[in-house]
Amino acid sequence: MGRLQAKNVLITGASSGIGQAIAVRFAREGANVAINYRSGAEAAEETRKMARAARGDEEGRELVVQGDVSQERAVQEMFRRVIGEFGWLDVLINNAGIQKPAASHEIDVEDFDRVIGVNLRGPFLCAREAIRHFLQRGKGGAILNNSSVHEIIPKPKYLAYSISKGGMENLTKTLALEYADRGIRVNAVGPGAVVTPINMAWINDARARQEVESHIPMSRAAEADEIASVFAFLASDEASYITGQTLFACGGLTLYPEFRVAWSSGE
Ligand code: NAD
Repeated sequence: MGRLQAKNVLITGASSGIGQAIAVRFAREGANVAINYRSGAEAAEETRKMARAARGDEEGRELVVQGDVSQERAVQEMFRRVIGEFGWLDVLINNAGIQKPAASHEIDVEDFDRVIGVNLRGPFLCAREAIRHFLQRGKGGAILNNSSVHEIIPKPKYLAYSISKGGMENLTKTLALEYADRGIRVNAVGPGAVVTPINMAWINDARARQEVESHIPMSRAAEADEIASVFAFLASDEASYITGQTLFACGGLTLYPEFRVAWSSGE
Protein backbone atom coordinates (compact mmCIF):
# COMPACT_ATOMS: atom_id res chain seq x y z
CA MET A 1 0.00 0.00 0.00
CA GLY A 2 1.35 3.43 -0.98
CA ARG A 3 2.06 6.28 1.42
CA LEU A 4 -0.74 8.32 -0.16
CA GLN A 5 -3.25 5.49 -0.44
CA ALA A 6 -6.79 6.76 -1.17
CA LYS A 7 -5.92 10.40 -0.48
CA ASN A 8 -7.83 12.79 -2.76
CA VAL A 9 -5.46 15.35 -4.20
CA LEU A 10 -5.91 18.38 -6.48
CA ILE A 11 -2.81 19.59 -8.34
CA THR A 12 -2.96 22.90 -10.21
CA GLY A 13 -1.05 23.37 -13.48
CA ALA A 14 -0.51 19.61 -13.74
CA SER A 15 -0.37 19.19 -17.51
CA SER A 16 3.42 19.68 -17.64
CA GLY A 17 6.65 19.88 -15.67
CA ILE A 18 6.65 19.49 -11.90
CA GLY A 19 2.83 19.36 -11.68
CA GLN A 20 2.77 16.43 -14.11
CA ALA A 21 5.52 14.66 -12.15
CA ILE A 22 3.52 15.19 -8.94
CA ALA A 23 0.38 13.69 -10.51
CA VAL A 24 2.34 10.63 -11.66
CA ARG A 25 4.24 10.18 -8.39
CA PHE A 26 1.09 10.63 -6.27
CA ALA A 27 -0.84 8.13 -8.39
CA ARG A 28 2.04 5.65 -8.01
CA GLU A 29 1.81 6.12 -4.23
CA GLY A 30 -1.93 5.41 -4.24
CA ALA A 31 -3.59 8.85 -4.37
CA ASN A 32 -6.61 9.81 -6.45
CA VAL A 33 -5.44 12.78 -8.50
CA ALA A 34 -7.33 15.73 -9.97
CA ILE A 35 -5.19 17.18 -12.75
CA ASN A 36 -5.90 20.88 -13.30
CA TYR A 37 -4.87 22.66 -16.48
CA ARG A 38 -5.63 26.08 -17.95
CA SER A 39 -5.16 25.40 -21.67
CA GLY A 40 -4.01 22.39 -23.68
CA ALA A 41 -6.48 19.60 -22.92
CA GLU A 42 -4.31 17.05 -24.79
CA ALA A 43 -1.35 17.59 -22.45
CA ALA A 44 -3.63 17.18 -19.43
CA GLU A 45 -4.99 13.97 -20.96
CA GLU A 46 -1.42 12.78 -21.43
CA THR A 47 -0.75 13.42 -17.71
CA ARG A 48 -3.89 11.43 -16.89
CA LYS A 49 -2.64 8.48 -18.95
CA MET A 50 0.80 8.64 -17.34
CA ALA A 51 -0.77 8.71 -13.85
CA ARG A 52 -3.00 5.78 -14.77
CA ALA A 53 -0.02 3.78 -16.03
CA ALA A 54 1.97 4.58 -12.88
CA ARG A 55 -0.63 2.80 -10.74
CA GLY A 56 -0.03 -0.54 -12.37
CA ASP A 57 -2.73 -2.89 -11.12
CA GLU A 58 -3.64 -0.75 -8.11
CA GLU A 59 -7.03 0.97 -8.02
CA GLY A 60 -7.40 4.74 -8.08
CA ARG A 61 -8.93 7.62 -9.95
CA GLU A 62 -7.69 10.39 -12.20
CA LEU A 63 -9.79 13.41 -13.06
CA VAL A 64 -8.87 16.14 -15.54
CA VAL A 65 -10.28 19.53 -14.61
CA GLN A 66 -9.92 22.78 -16.58
CA GLY A 67 -9.67 26.14 -14.81
CA ASP A 68 -7.61 29.32 -14.60
CA VAL A 69 -6.39 29.52 -10.99
CA SER A 70 -6.31 33.32 -11.07
CA GLN A 71 -10.09 33.54 -11.60
CA GLU A 72 -12.33 33.26 -8.56
CA ARG A 73 -15.33 31.69 -10.32
CA ALA A 74 -13.17 29.21 -12.22
CA VAL A 75 -11.50 28.12 -8.97
CA GLN A 76 -14.85 27.69 -7.21
CA GLU A 77 -16.19 25.66 -10.13
CA MET A 78 -13.03 23.51 -10.14
CA PHE A 79 -13.44 22.71 -6.42
CA ARG A 80 -17.15 21.94 -6.88
CA ARG A 81 -16.24 19.48 -9.60
CA VAL A 82 -13.37 17.79 -7.81
CA ILE A 83 -15.19 17.45 -4.50
CA GLY A 84 -18.35 16.35 -6.34
CA GLU A 85 -16.46 13.58 -8.15
CA PHE A 86 -14.13 12.47 -5.34
CA GLY A 87 -16.51 13.08 -2.41
CA TRP A 88 -13.92 15.07 -0.48
CA LEU A 89 -10.42 16.56 -0.76
CA ASP A 90 -7.39 15.77 1.43
CA VAL A 91 -4.58 17.69 -0.26
CA LEU A 92 -4.34 20.81 -2.43
CA ILE A 93 -1.13 21.42 -4.35
CA ASN A 94 -0.70 24.98 -5.59
CA ASN A 95 1.74 24.28 -8.39
CA ALA A 96 0.68 26.49 -11.34
CA GLY A 97 3.12 29.31 -11.97
CA ILE A 98 4.44 31.56 -14.73
CA GLN A 99 7.26 34.04 -15.22
CA LYS A 100 7.79 36.97 -17.61
CA PRO A 101 11.31 38.39 -17.83
CA ALA A 102 11.88 42.14 -18.23
CA ALA A 103 14.04 44.84 -16.69
CA SER A 104 12.07 46.06 -13.68
CA HIS A 105 11.72 49.61 -15.03
CA GLU A 106 10.24 48.28 -18.27
CA ILE A 107 7.63 45.82 -16.97
CA ASP A 108 4.14 46.09 -18.48
CA VAL A 109 1.63 46.43 -15.68
CA GLU A 110 -0.54 43.76 -17.37
CA ASP A 111 2.38 41.30 -17.26
CA PHE A 112 3.05 42.16 -13.62
CA ASP A 113 -0.62 41.60 -12.72
CA ARG A 114 -0.74 38.34 -14.66
CA VAL A 115 2.28 36.85 -12.87
CA ILE A 116 1.00 37.89 -9.45
CA GLY A 117 -2.48 36.70 -10.48
CA VAL A 118 -1.35 33.16 -11.33
CA ASN A 119 1.47 32.77 -8.77
CA LEU A 120 -0.05 34.41 -5.69
CA ARG A 121 -3.74 35.27 -6.14
CA GLY A 122 -4.28 31.76 -7.54
CA PRO A 123 -2.75 29.96 -4.53
CA PHE A 124 -4.79 32.22 -2.22
CA LEU A 125 -8.06 31.49 -4.09
CA CYS A 126 -7.38 27.75 -4.15
CA ALA A 127 -6.26 27.67 -0.50
CA ARG A 128 -9.40 29.55 0.53
CA GLU A 129 -11.66 27.00 -1.17
CA ALA A 130 -9.64 24.09 0.24
CA ILE A 131 -9.74 25.50 3.78
CA ARG A 132 -13.51 26.14 3.58
CA HIS A 133 -13.92 22.49 2.58
CA PHE A 134 -11.47 21.16 5.22
CA LEU A 135 -13.28 23.13 7.97
CA GLN A 136 -16.71 22.02 6.82
CA ARG A 137 -15.62 18.38 6.71
CA GLY A 138 -13.82 18.62 10.05
CA LYS A 139 -11.03 16.17 9.21
CA GLY A 140 -8.19 18.57 8.46
CA GLY A 141 -6.13 18.51 5.31
CA ALA A 142 -2.89 19.67 3.74
CA ILE A 143 -1.97 22.51 1.43
CA LEU A 144 1.37 22.43 -0.38
CA ASN A 145 2.71 25.38 -2.34
CA ASN A 146 5.25 25.13 -5.11
CA SER A 147 7.50 28.04 -4.24
CA SER A 148 11.12 28.53 -5.37
CA VAL A 149 14.56 29.41 -4.12
CA HIS A 150 13.41 32.89 -5.16
CA GLU A 151 11.21 32.84 -2.09
CA ILE A 152 14.38 34.05 -0.35
CA ILE A 153 16.84 34.87 -3.16
CA PRO A 154 16.14 38.03 -5.19
CA LYS A 155 15.76 37.53 -8.96
CA PRO A 156 16.54 40.67 -10.95
CA LYS A 157 14.60 40.97 -14.24
CA TYR A 158 11.93 38.68 -12.79
CA LEU A 159 10.46 41.11 -10.28
CA ALA A 160 6.86 39.88 -10.24
CA TYR A 161 8.00 36.24 -10.05
CA SER A 162 10.37 37.02 -7.19
CA ILE A 163 7.71 39.00 -5.31
CA SER A 164 5.15 36.24 -5.87
CA LYS A 165 7.41 33.60 -4.34
CA GLY A 166 8.37 35.90 -1.45
CA GLY A 167 4.65 36.37 -0.85
CA MET A 168 4.15 32.63 -1.02
CA GLU A 169 6.44 32.18 1.99
CA ASN A 170 4.17 34.44 4.02
CA LEU A 171 1.02 32.83 2.61
CA THR A 172 2.39 29.46 3.73
CA LYS A 173 3.31 30.65 7.23
CA THR A 174 0.21 32.75 7.88
CA LEU A 175 -2.23 30.03 6.83
CA ALA A 176 -0.21 27.42 8.74
CA LEU A 177 -0.45 29.44 11.93
CA GLU A 178 -4.09 30.36 11.48
CA TYR A 179 -5.33 26.80 10.95
CA ALA A 180 -2.78 24.67 12.83
CA ASP A 181 -5.24 23.92 15.62
CA ARG A 182 -7.77 22.53 13.13
CA GLY A 183 -5.60 19.83 11.63
CA ILE A 184 -4.71 21.79 8.50
CA ARG A 185 -1.02 21.71 7.59
CA VAL A 186 0.38 24.25 5.13
CA ASN A 187 3.89 23.83 3.72
CA ALA A 188 5.90 24.71 0.64
CA VAL A 189 8.61 23.19 -1.51
CA GLY A 190 11.34 25.48 -2.83
CA PRO A 191 12.92 24.03 -5.97
CA GLY A 192 16.10 25.39 -7.53
CA ALA A 193 16.60 24.80 -11.26
CA VAL A 194 14.45 21.96 -12.60
CA VAL A 195 14.30 20.46 -16.10
CA THR A 196 10.77 21.57 -17.12
CA PRO A 197 9.14 23.62 -19.91
CA ILE A 198 9.38 26.85 -17.85
CA ASN A 199 13.15 26.60 -18.50
CA MET A 200 12.96 26.10 -22.29
CA ALA A 201 15.61 28.82 -22.62
CA TRP A 202 18.34 26.44 -21.43
CA ILE A 203 17.23 22.84 -21.00
CA ASN A 204 17.92 21.82 -24.62
CA ASP A 205 20.89 24.10 -25.22
CA ALA A 206 24.05 22.35 -24.00
CA ARG A 207 26.08 25.54 -23.48
CA ALA A 208 23.30 27.45 -21.76
CA ARG A 209 22.58 24.46 -19.55
CA GLN A 210 26.23 24.12 -18.59
CA GLU A 211 26.23 27.80 -17.60
CA VAL A 212 23.12 27.27 -15.41
CA GLU A 213 24.52 24.13 -13.82
CA SER A 214 27.89 25.78 -13.11
CA HIS A 215 26.09 27.93 -10.51
CA ILE A 216 24.55 24.96 -8.68
CA PRO A 217 26.63 23.41 -5.85
CA MET A 218 25.48 19.90 -6.85
CA SER A 219 26.50 20.76 -10.46
CA ARG A 220 23.22 19.70 -12.05
CA ALA A 221 19.61 20.74 -12.45
CA ALA A 222 16.91 18.58 -10.83
CA GLU A 223 14.58 16.20 -12.62
CA ALA A 224 10.91 16.98 -11.94
CA ASP A 225 10.43 13.72 -10.04
CA GLU A 226 13.11 14.76 -7.51
CA ILE A 227 10.78 17.64 -6.61
CA ALA A 228 7.60 15.53 -6.77
CA SER A 229 9.06 13.17 -4.15
CA VAL A 230 9.38 16.07 -1.69
CA PHE A 231 5.71 16.92 -2.24
CA ALA A 232 4.82 13.28 -1.63
CA PHE A 233 6.64 13.31 1.70
CA LEU A 234 5.01 16.57 2.82
CA ALA A 235 1.56 15.33 1.76
CA SER A 236 1.97 12.04 3.61
CA ASP A 237 1.31 11.24 7.25
CA GLU A 238 5.08 10.96 7.70
CA ALA A 239 5.06 14.78 7.74
CA SER A 240 2.19 14.93 10.24
CA TYR A 241 4.00 17.32 12.62
CA ILE A 242 5.39 19.70 9.98
CA THR A 243 3.60 22.95 9.20
CA GLY A 244 4.54 26.44 8.03
CA GLN A 245 7.82 25.30 6.46
CA THR A 246 9.46 25.60 3.08
CA LEU A 247 11.60 22.60 2.24
CA PHE A 248 14.21 23.69 -0.29
CA ALA A 249 15.10 21.03 -2.86
CA CYS A 250 17.68 23.07 -4.71
CA GLY A 251 20.99 21.19 -4.96
CA GLY A 252 22.51 23.69 -2.52
CA LEU A 253 21.47 26.92 -4.25
CA THR A 254 20.27 28.45 -0.99
CA LEU A 255 23.72 27.94 0.60
CA TYR A 256 25.28 31.11 -0.86
CA PRO A 257 27.37 29.21 -3.47
CA GLU A 258 29.69 32.20 -3.90
CA PHE A 259 31.10 31.32 -0.48
CA ARG A 260 32.46 27.97 -1.65
CA VAL A 261 35.79 29.79 -1.74
CA ALA A 262 36.89 32.00 1.14
CA TRP A 263 37.06 35.14 -1.00
CA SER A 264 35.87 37.38 1.84
CA SER A 265 38.81 36.46 4.09
CA GLY A 266 41.57 37.15 1.60
CA GLU A 267 42.79 33.54 1.68
P1 NAD B 1 5.68 24.50 -16.31
O1 NAD B 1 5.61 25.71 -17.16
O2 NAD B 1 5.82 23.18 -16.96
O3 NAD B 1 4.42 24.40 -15.33
C1 NAD B 1 3.57 25.45 -15.01
C2 NAD B 1 2.15 24.97 -15.22
O4 NAD B 1 1.23 25.96 -14.77
C3 NAD B 1 1.86 24.73 -16.71
O5 NAD B 1 1.27 23.46 -16.88
C4 NAD B 1 0.88 25.83 -17.06
O6 NAD B 1 -0.02 25.48 -18.08
C5 NAD B 1 0.17 26.01 -15.73
N1 NAD B 1 -0.52 27.30 -15.61
C6 NAD B 1 -0.07 28.52 -16.00
N2 NAD B 1 -1.02 29.45 -15.75
C7 NAD B 1 -2.07 28.80 -15.19
C8 NAD B 1 -3.33 29.20 -14.72
N3 NAD B 1 -3.70 30.49 -14.78
N4 NAD B 1 -4.17 28.28 -14.21
C9 NAD B 1 -3.81 26.97 -14.15
N5 NAD B 1 -2.62 26.53 -14.59
C10 NAD B 1 -1.77 27.42 -15.11
O7 NAD B 1 6.89 24.75 -15.33
P2 NAD B 1 7.27 24.07 -13.92
O8 NAD B 1 8.71 24.27 -13.75
O9 NAD B 1 6.71 22.70 -13.82
O10 NAD B 1 6.54 25.04 -12.89
C11 NAD B 1 5.69 24.59 -11.86
C12 NAD B 1 5.92 25.41 -10.62
O11 NAD B 1 7.25 25.19 -10.16
C13 NAD B 1 5.79 26.93 -10.80
O12 NAD B 1 5.06 27.48 -9.73
C14 NAD B 1 7.23 27.40 -10.76
O13 NAD B 1 7.35 28.72 -10.29
C15 NAD B 1 7.83 26.40 -9.80
N6 NAD B 1 9.28 26.33 -9.90
C16 NAD B 1 9.89 25.81 -11.01
C17 NAD B 1 11.27 25.77 -11.06
C18 NAD B 1 11.99 25.23 -12.26
O14 NAD B 1 13.22 25.41 -12.35
N7 NAD B 1 11.35 24.57 -13.20
C19 NAD B 1 12.02 26.25 -10.00
C20 NAD B 1 11.39 26.77 -8.89
C21 NAD B 1 10.02 26.80 -8.85
